[in-house]
Amino acid sequence: MLKHALGRSQKWPPAWRDAMPAKHYDVVIVGAGGHGLATAYYLAKNHGIKNIAVLEKGYLGGGNTGRNTQVIRSNYFWPQSSAFFDRSLQLYEGLSKELNFNVMLSQRGILTLAHSHHELEGIRRWANAIRLNNIDSEIMTPEQIRELMPLINLDCRFPIRGGFIQRRGGIARHDAVAWAYARAASQHGVDIIQQCEVTGIDARAGRATGVQTSKGAISADKISIAVAGHTGVLAKMAGFRVPVTSMALQAMVSEPVKPCLDTVVLSPVIHAYVSQSDRGELVIGGGADIYNSYAQRGGIPLLEETVASVLELFPAFSRLRLMRQWAGIVDVTPDTTPIMGKTPVEKLYISGGWGTGGYKAIPAGGETMAYTIAEDRPHPLIEGFGLDRFQSGALIDEGAASGVAH
Ligand SMILES: Cc1cc2nc3c(=O)[nH]c(=O)nc-3n(C[C@H](O)[C@H](O)[C@H](O)COP(=O)(O)OP(=O)(O)OC[C@H]3O[C@@H](n4cnc5c(N)ncnc54)[C@H](O)[C@@H]3O)c2cc1C
Repeated sequence: MLKHALGRSQKWPPAWRDAMPAKHYDVVIVGAGGHGLATAYYLAKNHGIKNIAVLEKGYLGGGNTGRNTQVIRSNYFWPQSSAFFDRSLQLYEGLSKELNFNVMLSQRGILTLAHSHHELEGIRRWANAIRLNNIDSEIMTPEQIRELMPLINLDCRFPIRGGFIQRRGGIARHDAVAWAYARAASQHGVDIIQQCEVTGIDARAGRATGVQTSKGAISADKISIAVAGHTGVLAKMAGFRVPVTSMALQAMVSEPVKPCLDTVVLSPVIHAYVSQSDRGELVIGGGADIYNSYAQRGGIPLLEETVASVLELFPAFSRLRLMRQWAGIVDVTPDTTPIMGKTPVEKLYISGGWGTGGYKAIPAGGETMAYTIAEDRPHPLIEGFGLDRFQSGALIDEGAASGVAH
């Protein structure tokens, strides 16, 4: 550190190797977002498979991993989701140490608001279900909420009747998560190839054999797709369909101010959430645009609605200016549970349908997909998340837990 500081930070070694594609890999992963990179890392670390390429059409972490609002939590409703997302939170808790990279985890708590007695009843049931799954969750009265965040307006248009908090929830720096996995994967010998778009998936006798890319053909024993908002596009290349709706989800930040909000707060009813980043900016998110789109920008009406909702909760924020607004494409499944595991094409695997909430799932997503690819069978934690549930009808409806976009 001292050496680099004296050298004006000019000679830091690159965090990962920028590789050129080889002709063949044991595993090719499409998409260098958090999920693709974490999968590569755990494949190398846990399963000893190191001849891996991660192909990225743009720049590493430039998809939804670098565009999200950084919220992590595990307060889901159904046991399958709880087990999976809590594993992810546990991995987040040790991630800085595991990857020797500060991911700036801040377990400041995440508070979900109820705006009516009826909603509070629903939230009680939800909080109890979470506790039955052995995950922390506490009901809060309006007075406790006021104490936690003095700036909140409890008597807003839909007055706040209470809420529940997961204290282990919070935020972690998204770029750091992508860079940390990239560096660790690269140290294990994984080739990370940016500016390399996959344009076709080759298959023979129902089995994936390689990919066509903007940098030429690459053959592979196994291929995994982790492309967030483009899952349908890649599935189409392989000849099958996925039940997802692709929409733009936007977020925005205000100018920075001194610390004034040290909890993530969200309202499912007025459909907005806000937290304060370490830089002091208020990070604001809301719902996805209500029409399908691959345009990576959010619509103005939704932006206005989201800001109006946040100002209803925190009128004092009206004095701040918005600094930036952006969007990412999210693939939402009918039950808002991800699609993970095997596909109708042999040796082709999928991690998608993350909708508005796959950032918190990156560590467990990578770990379980690595197992699934290495063993050619779904990891026990994701057995229920397969594509086949849309045929069997065994859906895992997390509409309430992941309905608000984060
Ligand atoms: C505004 C916003 C806020 C969000 N907030 C939260 C939040 O607070 N908490 C949370 O848990 N989740 C949140 N999410 C969701 C979360 O960001 C995603 O679910 C998660 O990042 C998905 O990670 P990924 O690695 O699957 O996808 P990505 O990070 O999008 O990576 C996929 C990569 O695949 C690449 N790719 C696509 N097609 C090809 C191709 N043909 N060839 C090669 N590469 C290709 C893309 O360029 C991209 O880099 C939010 C999303 C958005 C947009």
